[in-house]
Amino acid sequence: MSLIIFNNSQFLISSKLQKVKKFYSINVRSHFDIIIAGGGMVGTTLACALGKNSRLANKKVLLLEGSSKKHWKLPENYSNRVVSINPGTHKLLNDIGAWKFIEKLRFTAVKRLEVWDAISDAHITFGDSEEDNVSYVVENDVILQSVSEEIKNVPNVNVMYDSKVKKYDLPILTENVVTVTMDNDDVFTCELLLACDGVQSLVRKSMKTDYLSWSYNQMGVVATLKLSDEIKNEIAWQRFLPTGPIALLPLTADQSSLVWSTTPEQAKLLLNLREEEFVDELNKAIWQKYDHHSVIQQASSLFDTLLRFLNCPSGGIRQIPPKICGIIKESRAAFPLGFGHSAQYIGQGVALIGDAAHRVHPLAGQGVNLGFGDVVCLNEILGEANISGANLNDMSYLKDYETKRQQHNVPTMLAVESLHRLYNTEFTPVVLLRSLGLQATHVIEPLKKAIISQAAV
Ligand SMILES: Cc1cc2nc3c(=O)[nH]c(=O)nc-3n(C[C@H](O)[C@H](O)[C@H](O)COP(=O)(O)OP(=O)(O)OC[C@H]3O[C@@H](n4cnc5c(N)ncnc54)[C@H](O)[C@@H]3O)c2cc1C
Repeated sequence: MSLIIFNNSQFLISSKLQKVKKFYSINVRSHFDIIIAGGGMVGTTLACALGKNSRLANKKVLLLEGSSKKHWKLPENYSNRVVSINPGTHKLLNDIGAWKFIEKLRFTAVKRLEVWDAISDAHITFGDSEEDNVSYVVENDVILQSVSEEIKNVPNVNVMYDSKVKKYDLPILTENVVTVTMDNDDVFTCELLLACDGVQSLVRKSMKTDYLSWSYNQMGVVATLKLSDEIKNEIAWQRFLPTGPIALLPLTADQSSLVWSTTPEQAKLLLNLREEEFVDELNKAIWQKYDHHSVIQQASSLFDTLLRFLNCPSGGIRQIPPKICGIIKESRAAFPLGFGHSAQYIGQGVALIGDAAHRVHPLAGQGVNLGFGDVVCLNEILGEANISGANLNDMSYLKDYETKRQQHNVPTMLAVESLHRLYNTEFTPVVLLRSLGLQATHVIEPLKKAIISQAAV
C-alpha cells in the first residue's frame, strides 16, 4: 500500500505520519522541487545555500542522508578529520550564516604555507601578509554541525537522516521527474536531483556517465599531534618525501593535525607502531636529511645566483617546522587516496556536486574546496533559472553549471595531479626540473599570486 503526498506546501513528513506509516506498513510517496542525495559537508551546505537563496524562495528542498543524526557536542580533543578551507569556502560559509557557529566552536587561521622538498634544497612559501589568511583549518564535524545548525532556520529545507537511497529512476527523454526509492521502499519524486553522495556516488552510477579514476596506491595517515613547545602555530607545513607528502596543519599553540600520504605498506606499519615509535618515525620523516645529488645542488645554486642577479627577492628567512612530542590517544587512522573525474556533471534532471563529480589527492588541500565551489556556482545558476521562469531542470542552465565548473575543476585537478607526479620520483632530471621550478615560483610574485588565486576559489 502506498500513501501519496503531492502537496508541496505541506512537504514536511511529520513524525505522526511516519508513525502511521509504520503502523499500517505503508510507503510514503512525496514530491519536492529539489532532492539532494547525501548530507556530507557538501550536500548539507548546498541545502542550506539553496534554502537561503531568495531567488529560490518558492522551492522545496529535501536532503536525504543515509547515516543517523549525530547528537554532537564539541569534544575536548580535536578530531583527526580536518580540512584546510580556502578563502572562497570561508566566504560561502559566512554568506550562508554557518561561519558564526564555526567561530563559536573552533577553527585555526593559517597565515603561511611552507612547502619543501626532501631530496633537494628547493622550498616555497605562500602568504606573506600578517592580515590575510591563506586558509582555515576546521574539523569536518565542526563544519557539518555548524551548517546543520543554520539549516534549522531555513523553513523550505527538510532534512531526513537514516534515509538511504537504494535506487534512482532518472527521466528518459520526455519524462520530467526523477524517482528516488529509499531502502524502506518509500518513494520521493523531484524535478531536479542533486548528487552529493560522495566518491562512490550511486547517482553517478545510475547516470552511466564515463568516470575516469585510479588509485594512487597510497594511504593518507591522519593523527592529532602534540608539539614539543607552545608556539605561534599559524603555519601549515608540507614536505615532499619520495614516498609521498607529509603535511602538518596548525590547530592550537601545541597541537597540529597530520596528513601523511604514503605507501599502503608503510601506512599499515605506522598504524601498528607504539605511539612513541610512531612519533620517532614522524620526526624522522620531517627532519631526515637525504643525500642531495651534486648536479641538482650546483644547478640550484647557479639558478639562485641568476635570480638574485635579476633582482628577484630571496624570499626571506627560512623557518623550521615544529617538533612533535606525542599524539592524542587513538587519533591515528588511514584513508585510501585516489583520483576520479566524471566526464559529465549533468544529465536530464540531475547534477553531480563535490566528490560525486571529482576526487583529488589531498596534497594541495583542494578536495572539498572544489565541492564548495560547485555549490556557489550551482546556487547562483538555479536562482537565475528560477527568476527567468525556466524549469530547475532546464538543460541550458545545467549545461552552464557543468561548463563553468569543469573550466575551473579540470585545470586545478591537472595541477594537483602534475604536482603528485613531479614529486613522486627521485629521477634526477625531474628532481632538477621541479627544484628550479619551485625556486623560480618562490621569488616570482605574479606567478605565486596566480597559483594562490586559482586555489582560493
Ligand atoms: C586524508 C584526507 C585529507 C583531506 N584533506 C582535505 C583538505 O585539507 N582540504 C580539502 O578541501 N579537502 C580535503 N580532503 C577531501 C575531502 O575530505 C572531501 O572532498 C570531502 O569530504 C567530500 O565531501 P562530500 O560531501 O562531497 O562527500 P562525502 O563526505 O563522502 O559525503 C557523502 C554523503 O553522502 C551520503 N550518502 C552516500 N550514499 C548515500 C545514499 N545512497 N543514500 C543516502 N545518503 C548517501 C554519505 O552518508 C555521506 O554523508 C581530504 C580527504 C582525505 C581522505
